[in-house]
Amino acid sequence: MSESARVAGFGTTVFSEFSALARQVSAVNLGQGFPDFDGPLEIKQAAIDAINGGVNQYAITHGAASLRQAVAQHAERFYGQKVDPETEVSVASGATEVIFDAIMGLTNPGDEIVIFEPFYDSYVASAEMAGARCRYVRLNAPDWSFDEGELAAAFTEKTRLVIVNTPHNPTGKCFTRDELQLIGKLAAARGAVILSDEVYEHLVYAPNRHLRPATVPGLAERTLTVSSGGKSFSFTGWKIGWALGPRALVRATQKAHQFVTFATASPFQEAIARALQLPDTYFEGFERDYRHKRDFLSAALKAAGFEPFTPQGTYFVIADAGRHARADDFETCRWLTREVGVAAIPPSAFYSAEHKADAKRFIRFAFCKTDATLATAAKRLASLGR
Ligand code: PMP
Ligand code: GLN
Repeated sequence: MSESARVAGFGTTVFSEFSALARQVSAVNLGQGFPDFDGPLEIKQAAIDAINGGVNQYAITHGAASLRQAVAQHAERFYGQKVDPETEVSVASGATEVIFDAIMGLTNPGDEIVIFEPFYDSYVASAEMAGARCRYVRLNAPDWSFDEGELAAAFTEKTRLVIVNTPHNPTGKCFTRDELQLIGKLAAARGAVILSDEVYEHLVYAPNRHLRPATVPGLAERTLTVSSGGKSFSFTGWKIGWALGPRALVRATQKAHQFVTFATASPFQEAIARALQLPDTYFEGFERDYRHKRDFLSAALKAAGFEPFTPQGTYFVIADAGRHARADDFETCRWLTREVGVAAIPPSAFYSAEHKADAKRFIRFAFCKTDATLATAAKRLASLGR
């Protein structure tokens, strides 16, 4: 039996490929972005209590009331955003599903989606499955800014969506107010929706601050904000995500969700509802720990002859391979995994076919790892010398 044309072009994701290679050669895995530690004990206990307390049947399709309430309170607490938990919040199985649901719910085949590249790889796969066409706008090193003319040219009468990811995977860029205003102006001129992926909202390093696009004047009415509990609470395996924003956008997303998974794991919704209400000290400590990890890994990379670009947010750092560069980034990452024992991700996986060459010298490292893991990686990298 042959595969559908919809999936025939998909290979194995770069994350699966490099995690498998890391296991095979016992490399320290700084590739796929998942913490090698658990989130707060009390949040694990909340999930266990929910299971033991009988929260084990289908949740309400648009999300447990407790979680929708917590998402709304969190939006008000951190961004002063007022959303109705009944009609302006919808829960799904991770940000990945919400993004797929939103694309399915908001685009027709032949519509266009503006995407900044590099991009998180599920955007393009979701767009392809929906029959939408992607128009790419490049973020350029070292500061990952974009050309305004290139952005304006990406918008056409067919543009239905523009996906903004801030803080941005894999570059660590935080979009500025001016950039968001410009995106908003272009989107408004075409009647397009801004899909804002903010899964790294709590991983922004001072003096940078997370600027939620929906809070930029004029953008709220056309912005669907997406986030999830995976990164902020170190439970990537729980897959609890949500969308919030104008009723019509949330409803379109929810309509797709009810026939993708119908409902999302109920005990984990209760636990993430608790997590969103953790005190400020949790979020401050979280950022502090990660800043330390970012600085430690960046120093280790420099000492080994790589040239890291300091990320403003996220738990990733992109480095130029410097004198270690092989023929392309896949070759460099395979060499690093096999010969040095440190796995990383080749960023060309996050570029369109046309622009993969832009990433030839880059490597992406994840620093969502214990200090001990990072120290082992640093020791192995040190074998390369300067
Ligand atoms: N968006 C970005 C930018 C990501 O890096 C990730 C990481 N997995 C996701 C979405 C997916 O989040 P989730 O695990 O909640 O599906
Ligand atoms: N978001 C994570 C990363 O970029 C991994 C997501 C995944 O494995 N699909 O590394």
